[in-house]
Amino acid sequence: MSISENLRHVENTIAEAANRSGRRPDEVTLVAVSKTWPVETIQEAVEAGHRVFGENKVQELEQKVPAMAEDLQWHAIGHLQKNKVRKVIPLCTMIHSIDSIGLAERVDRIAGEEGRGIEGLLQVNVAEDDAKFGFSVAEVRAAVESLAELEHLRILGLMTVPAFDPEPENVRPHFARLRELRDELAESASISLPHLSMGMSHDFPVAIEEGATLVRVGSSIFGRRDYG
Ligand SMILES: *Cc1c(COP(=O)(O)O)cnc(C)c1O
Repeated sequence: MSISENLRHVENTIAEAANRSGRRPDEVTLVAVSKTWPVETIQEAVEAGHRVFGENKVQELEQKVPAMAEDLQWHAIGHLQKNKVRKVIPLCTMIHSIDSIGLAERVDRIAGEEGRGIEGLLQVNVAEDDAKFGFSVAEVRAAVESLAELEHLRILGLMTVPAFDPEPENVRPHFARLRELRDELAESASISLPHLSMGMSHDFPVAIEEGATLVRVGSSIFGRRDYG
């Protein structure tokens, strides 16, 4: 199947999952995860009408963003090292993977120095999985109020990356937990946290049923990645 056919298929699956759960399909943004794929491959998705892409390495953003159309949106979705912050800020509109207070403060400070605003999501390790980056539930509860006051980094919601499980139903409780946590934080801190970034190729329909507004889908669009 071609990339444009894959995109249509993923978009239809998104619409079906949204309709099943009483949501509108346009409440869900498809972030096409183009990591490891060259510009020519990503261009096929652009030609099929897609505009929002996700990358997990600053180096790939540095190569791809200047080489492609200016009206695309790039999201940083992987763990971000503090020394890469200045490079990444001009390249993307949203960072999904704000995983510490120090990183949030640094992004805010450097965005201010660069005269830019940037959107961010707090990555939460809802499964309390040792191998994953992210705030614990207790940490994010303690941090959200002060981080919501940052001036240049606008915190718009939460993101999670549960450990891979081939059975999406096993992941559903983690997605539900992220939504409950978002609802709780938004209420207790009186802030708006409209976004939930959750769901990947094998489990995005379940994530949408549980409230995802951003799904990060790579291999179902571009095919299996070859890490060489
Ligand atoms: C690679 C990646 C994805 C996409 O994974 P697929 O299984 O290819 O859809 C989503 N989120 C993050 C954080 C990733 O690194």
